[in-house]
Amino acid sequence: MKRTAKISLVMLAVVVLIAALAVTFTACNDKTQQQHTHDYTLVEAKAASCTEAGNVQYYTCTCGKFFDSEKREIEESQTVIPATGHDIVTTSWASGGGSHWHKCNNCDEKFDLASHTPKDEWINDREATCTVYARRHKECSVCNTWTQDELYGELAPHTWNSQTGKCDVCGATKPIYEERDGKIYFGEYPQTKVEDSGLTATLAQMSGARPVKGNSGKWTDYKYYLDKKVDEYMWHIDLDYNGARYRGVYFTSYRAAFIGMGSTTYQDHNGYEINTLYWFKWEPIEWRVLEKQGGEALLMSNLIIDSYQFYHDGVDRDDIHPNNYKESDIRNWLSETFYAQAFDKFAQAIIKDTLVDNSADVSAAGAGNPFACEDTTDKVFLLSYADVKNPAYGFSVEDAADEARKLKPTDYALAQGLAPLNGYGPWWLRTPGGQQPFHADVTDTAGGVGGVNSLSVPETNFGVVPALRITL
Ligand SMILES: [Zn+2]
Ligand SMILES: [Zn+2]
Ligand SMILES: [Zn+2]
Ligand SMILES: [Zn+2]
Repeated sequence: MKRTAKISLVMLAVVVLIAALAVTFTACNDKTQQQHTHDYTLVEAKAASCTEAGNVQYYTCTCGKFFDSEKREIEESQTVIPATGHDIVTTSWASGGGSHWHKCNNCDEKFDLASHTPKDEWINDREATCTVYARRHKECSVCNTWTQDELYGELAPHTWNSQTGKCDVCGATKPIYEERDGKIYFGEYPQTKVEDSGLTATLAQMSGARPVKGNSGKWTDYKYYLDKKVDEYMWHIDLDYNGARYRGVYFTSYRAAFIGMGSTTYQDHNGYEINTLYWFKWEPIEWRVLEKQGGEALLMSNLIIDSYQFYHDGVDRDDIHPNNYKESDIRNWLSETFYAQAFDKFAQAIIKDTLVDNSADVSAAGAGNPFACEDTTDKVFLLSYADVKNPAYGFSVEDAADEARKLKPTDYALAQGLAPLNGYGPWWLRTPGGQQPFHADVTDTAGGVGGVNSLSVPETNFGVVPALRITL
């Protein structure tokens, strides 16, 4: 045991000696500055910028030495992070304040800075709708930044839905009629010929194959007379395009001006030829207000809107004369075809049933007309000889020419074969001619009535001027 204790004592002495030496060496590793203890000052890391160097985190000491974050001595150069240089984006332009430039990904300095150089032409961004105007802009030829923009043109028309009575685009409710400058605009009918060749080409393409006898395709046969019978030679088609409706008209034979009496026609005279496609725009019908009372108005079309025979034959049917208004083709056409085409269900709802007086006393102005027929109840009707001599309606009481009775035809009426003179057209009255069972009264192109203005009922070259009563 004594031997063991002696060894332990020696080992203890050795440990103490080593410890003393260690303290001596740590106190200063430089034998020239044996008493200096490093006084570490932390220098925080700083990132380099494009143009300025940064540094890593390090320590300094008053002795001028540098140490890393683990306090190992390093060279001063090892603390430095060099400046990065600019990272210029040359594939795109930055812009603002009327200028464009190439930017640096890492700093705010601007390179290749220059003012915008706008191109001359406008660039379209958006077409007009019924609620927003069209918009266009100009842009810089270098960086494509918009240098100018504006709203322009007019709002587009509403896209009326005939089922809902509202605009499909904005939901606005379609006004059933509009009143402007003393006229009422109510219902729609094809009227003005489309002259824009780009538009007619588009419509022609939309309409597909042209109809031929025996195959109308998408087209509707007018069922007009040729000689003495209904034949298939003239068609129409209605297309909606860009918020508007257009009617195409096409015929392979001319419509005879006088049914069953030769081939005279006014269609070619009016500039409408066979085997040619024509387009007419559907537009609101302009009505003249003849009378307004008790929340109702009596209206007559202010233009001749179509051309139609009074009756297709000049020969009596049993005891029915050809000029019998009640049994006439034109009354049937007004009540069925025109009424259905010109007025949607909302417009139809304000058209009154009118008791149409066809008596000789009233309709024929007391002329003792032997061809007067029974009264009728109609939505749409023709005016009578008495009506167009009524000063309360704005007409002259005389038969002679009257400005108020002079009416212009629509292009569409001319395409149907109306016979115009000096820009005005003749138009049917519902009054039977007093002398012949195959004559009915017409207002001539000068606005004259009576006397010689009773003409043959099978003539298709006289115009249609509908009249009706609406609830205001
Ligand atoms: Zn030091
Ligand atoms: Zn930079
Ligand atoms: Zn620019
Ligand atoms: Zn709209």
